[in-house]
Amino acid sequence: MSRIAVAPLTELARAFARAGKQLYLVGGSVRDELLGRPHADLDFTTDALPEEVKALVRAARPDGVYTVGERFGTVGLVFGDLHVEVTTFRAEQYEPDSRKPAVQFGTSLVEDLSRRDFTINAMARDLATGELVDPYGGLADLKARLIRAVGAAEERFAEDPLRLLRAVRFAAELGFDVEPGTRAAIIACAEKLRTISWERIRDEMNRILLSERPALGIRLLCELGLMAFIIPEMLEMRGLRDREKRHKDVFEHTLAVVQRVPPVLHLRWAALLHDIAKPATLSVTDGEVHFLGHETLGAEMSRRILGRLRLDRNTIGVVAKLVRMHLRINLYDSNWTDGAVRRLAREAGDLFDDLFIISRADVTSQRAQRVAQAARAADELEARYRALQEEADLAKITSPLNGDELMSLFGRPPGKWIAPVKDYLLSLVLDGTLEQNDKEKAAELAREFVAKMGI
Ligand code: ATP
Ligand code: MG
Repeated sequence: MSRIAVAPLTELARAFARAGKQLYLVGGSVRDELLGRPHADLDFTTDALPEEVKALVRAARPDGVYTVGERFGTVGLVFGDLHVEVTTFRAEQYEPDSRKPAVQFGTSLVEDLSRRDFTINAMARDLATGELVDPYGGLADLKARLIRAVGAAEERFAEDPLRLLRAVRFAAELGFDVEPGTRAAIIACAEKLRTISWERIRDEMNRILLSERPALGIRLLCELGLMAFIIPEMLEMRGLRDREKRHKDVFEHTLAVVQRVPPVLHLRWAALLHDIAKPATLSVTDGEVHFLGHETLGAEMSRRILGRLRLDRNTIGVVAKLVRMHLRINLYDSNWTDGAVRRLAREAGDLFDDLFIISRADVTSQRAQRVAQAARAADELEARYRALQEEADLAKITSPLNGDELMSLFGRPPGKWIAPVKDYLLSLVLDGTLEQNDKEKAAELAREFVAKMGI
């Protein structure tokens, strides 16, 4: 309750109460407050019409800046850092064969809540009294950690198939299970995902990948039949035997890698797609399984998949490069020349560190010896690279004043006197007592040095 005890909200609550209007905190903000999770924006619902909301806010908080899509019954308010949306009770009616809801203002809170997707998102808190309004058992589901559709699940998914992905996304974010009836309805409606734009699918996929449990989310997408309409290529990885003994197949290995990389979008995507071409490149020679060129084909497939999903060009490029190069670090051995190390680092460029993250996560073998050996190799390569880089940086350090500058400073011709002065200034830079670009101080020190040494 602490979050809604903020001054502007208390004033707002009083103003609404005085006018005999209801004002409820609703949806994700109520859910997250009950879970003790942070939630950025506050959503409110009211029986006041948008015009009335604006008048009430103007009277209560003349400073309250208001904006946003009134056409859909939402008035947006900004009080300093606090972003608030107040939406008039909804009773959305879906026209047959149309995905666009025709917004109608409803008259009751319960009706508004009945239009919401999942029970945990269909609770409201009266801002004036603090009372929780929970007609669909949201609190019980929150405690049981269940995602359950409000009302007749199949109808609700048919109404708005984006909810199919939202169910999985909330499961991945919150670590909840999908309740069996809702699960069956998702499976039955999975095909309706075809009617959802790739941009909206992308946004939910990104959120699933960035959640705390990306592996759980991806597994659910496959189990519920949704992946077939997003990245069908993923399904081929199931049952494909890997050389890695720990994992049942390439799919399980992939999930482990996704879960192991930090929640950074391009890293999670690269982890998800790094072995995507294994099914297509499988060959068996003398009883041995090979996936020749899976990294090259995988990069190509990644571009295609992410392009289809409307990811931005930069992310697509970065992911494709990481997929293409994902084997390179684990191929390292101590015999590599400095030239080979430099070439790899140059080719990886900005992605060198990310390549290490993917490579380290990619070692999911159960054999401790193999894991330790791979870790040692990666550490050695990294240390060699850092050493080379330091050398290269060092090579760039020179005396702040070059020969010409010293000659004009002292008004003297070229000669043996220059080298010791340059060496002296260079050593001061290396010691850290002189900045490479501080020519003024360098000139002063050079004069002192020349006088003292009698050069
Ligand atoms: P988050 O902000 O973390 O995504 P949220 O629950 O606030 O979680 P929003 O997309 O911000 O989700 O939507 C706010 C609320 O609006 C939800 O809690 C839910 O009650 C309702 N809602 C959002 N999208 C839908 C939808 N597609 N179908 C039905 N209700 C929805
Ligand atoms: Mg929200």
